Amino acid sequence: MKIHNFNAGPSILPKQVIKKSVKAVINYNQYGLSLLEISHRSKDFEKIMEKTTNLVKNLMNLNEDYVVLFLQGGATLQFTMVPYNLMKKEAAYLDTGIWANNAIEEAKKIGKVRILFSGRKKKYVYISKNYKIPDEVDYFHCTSNNTIVGTQMKIFPNTSVPIICDMSSDIFSRKLNFCKFGLIYASAQKNVSSAGMTIVIIKKDILIKTQRNIPSYLDYKIHIKNKSIFNTPNIFSIYTSMLTLEWIKNKGGISIIEKKNKEKSKLLYNEIDRNNLFENKIYKEDRSNMNVTFFLKKKNLKKKFDDMWKKENIIGLEGHRVLGGYRASIYNAIPLESVQVLIDVMKEFERIFS
Ligand code: PLP
Repeated sequence: MKIHNFNAGPSILPKQVIKKSVKAVINYNQYGLSLLEISHRSKDFEKIMEKTTNLVKNLMNLNEDYVVLFLQGGATLQFTMVPYNLMKKEAAYLDTGIWANNAIEEAKKIGKVRILFSGRKKKYVYISKNYKIPDEVDYFHCTSNNTIVGTQMKIFPNTSVPIICDMSSDIFSRKLNFCKFGLIYASAQKNVSSAGMTIVIIKKDILIKTQRNIPSYLDYKIHIKNKSIFNTPNIFSIYTSMLTLEWIKNKGGISIIEKKNKEKSKLLYNEIDRNNLFENKIYKEDRSNMNVTFFLKKKNLKKKFDDMWKKENIIGLEGHRVLGGYRASIYNAIPLESVQVLIDVMKEFERIFS
């Protein structure tokens, strides 16, 4: 039975990645050991780390100024680690959604936060491009993709201040000038791997002396010195990331993936705009290519629509619990075919109930 998985995260991964990870869990190397049984200080794991790091750097075109870490605590811990390590006095944030807001709340516990734009009053349906980053702030923090509402930053500012970006829900989905960023973080459970691991990419020269006594696990410098094995890392998730990154590389890299992602999202947005029974509330230029949200115009038809898509083996289409409606998360691994199945259901629904 083919399942069409639109979950927002943990979410769909390439089938061959799943197959290879399962194989490695059963029998990783010639000694018959499971991946779950190897030491994080073994030669086997050293090779996995090296390969995964190189794949991240190559796919993102990062130079030697950057280090790649594989940490735990989710993107949520980065909401704290970023200000702990990088804020002397004040930082600037964009409030483009609930996750951005969570990052702001954590930063406020550590220093002063200047909010350059907040979309909260308009329910985060757009992202302003008219904000100015003050020269005197320690860094500028943004969230590249609002997973919940379905907006995506298309333009990143030019500034001398380090740009820190939460790319949890669109990392490796589109080509950007990644060298523009001082720090990028992304939890793995959407476009990369299983939950329990966060990729953190740091431009070394943004690390400053804060005069703060940073707890060891929260200190980027300690993780850099220990090459992500200050404590026991999530071996499984790092290995699975390596497989996904190889899959991206074999597909032709991020640009090719981006082209496919645009194709999928365009088809779906076109259908939402065309169909009499649905609407999307996001400003067109800010629509996300990863999380496509939509609502029924007639709420009383909800049960009918839900029955129809569930019958087609579609899963994970419910909107986020704070927003309601529907959300199709169309990450890298979701095939065009699944998007087409959803579109066909929407068309059929309109034919019957319009
Ligand atoms: N940031 C964004 C943009 C997210 O979408 C999420 C989770 O969905 C998070 C942060 C939180 O990630 P985690 O649960 O790994 O801490």
